[in-house]
Amino acid sequence: MVRSRQRSEQSSVRIDKAGNLMQKAVTEVRSSGWKGKTDSMSENDKMTDSCAESGTEGTENSTERKIDGKVTDMTEWKKDHMDYIVRATACGGQIRAFAATTRNLAEQAREIHQTSPVCTAALGRLMTAGAMMGIMLKGEDDLMTMTIRGDGPIQGLTVTADARGRVKGFVYNPNVWNAPKYKGKLDVGNAIGRGTLTVVRDQAFGEPYSSQVELLTGEIAEDLTSYFATSEQVPSSVGLGVLVNPDQTVEQAGGFIIQLMPGCTDETVDRLEASLKKIHSVTKLLEDGLSPEEILQKILGNMDLELLDTVPTEFYCNCSRDRVTKVLLSIGSKDLQEMIDEGKPVELACHFCGKKYSFSVDELKTLLAAAKAKKMKDMNIIDGQ
Ligand SMILES: [Zn+2]
Repeated sequence: MVRSRQRSEQSSVRIDKAGNLMQKAVTEVRSSGWKGKTDSMSENDKMTDSCAESGTEGTENSTERKIDGKVTDMTEWKKDHMDYIVRATACGGQIRAFAATTRNLAEQAREIHQTSPVCTAALGRLMTAGAMMGIMLKGEDDLMTMTIRGDGPIQGLTVTADARGRVKGFVYNPNVWNAPKYKGKLDVGNAIGRGTLTVVRDQAFGEPYSSQVELLTGEIAEDLTSYFATSEQVPSSVGLGVLVNPDQTVEQAGGFIIQLMPGCTDETVDRLEASLKKIHSVTKLLEDGLSPEEILQKILGNMDLELLDTVPTEFYCNCSRDRVTKVLLSIGSKDLQEMIDEGKPVELACHFCGKKYSFSVDELKTLLAAAKAKKMKDMNIIDGQ
């Protein structure tokens, strides 16, 4: 493995820090153990663990798995689908778990946004989490958007994911080149700074659900752990990692989310805790080339791990000329008129994928006429996906 590779990884073995609601959840699940320290796994610790050892012991021998309801040979399937999420349970449903490999989507985001390494790491982490959280959504057409705003040089980032494993995102300032490193890792926490994490879930039916937490560290995994504990009352362990090559491309990206379900016994919590303690570094797991299945095997292999299904994940933006047109219409007749008066075509770029949409003066005139005729400014404008 390349020694000079920049590392960016982080994991929280802990949750809590939650207040009353969390207390309730903890009481239900267990009253100790998952409380207290926040273990951000440091590179120094990882040397003690030989992460690749547990291998596939006890996993399913068959390479066949159900994907989208169809029995599929995974060996063949993976050749075409590099990024994917594995969904699993353990301890008879007391634990639910997700693990993902996301190198391609993280690299695609880097290429689109030309991000510096620390921004690549931050965006890769949040997109990896977003991909896993997206498939937790109940409705097929539900969407989830996570926004981090911080006082650090990155300023913030936004990631949107859907229930089908599709995810997109951008950082507000992709050009943070002088970010400090500590312990050989990219310092995502300081690049993001202090601020908030907002999660909005848009359901196809019903009102959007929005929840906000203060950032704990800006390292993203810990902040998401806090989000799960305080907003969803689900004790969770989140691990996210992005390895950036010396040439700034993404070498590896991935992560896991492990969650305790209601009714989880003390014994299960103890065993999970003991197991998570051995996982010192998500980066190390990725560096060792562990697949999502092997990561889950490593954490939950002795806890009746049951792999449920595999969901492909990808960078995907659904912007279209139609949507951009709606955005233009939403700015109102006055601004449209101003653009027309300037006598030049207008170019709008999608924040998420960078695709450019150009509108000629004549097209703007047509839009203005439409806006006036139909009072389109009152229509609902769908931003994002
Ligand atoms: Zn787009």
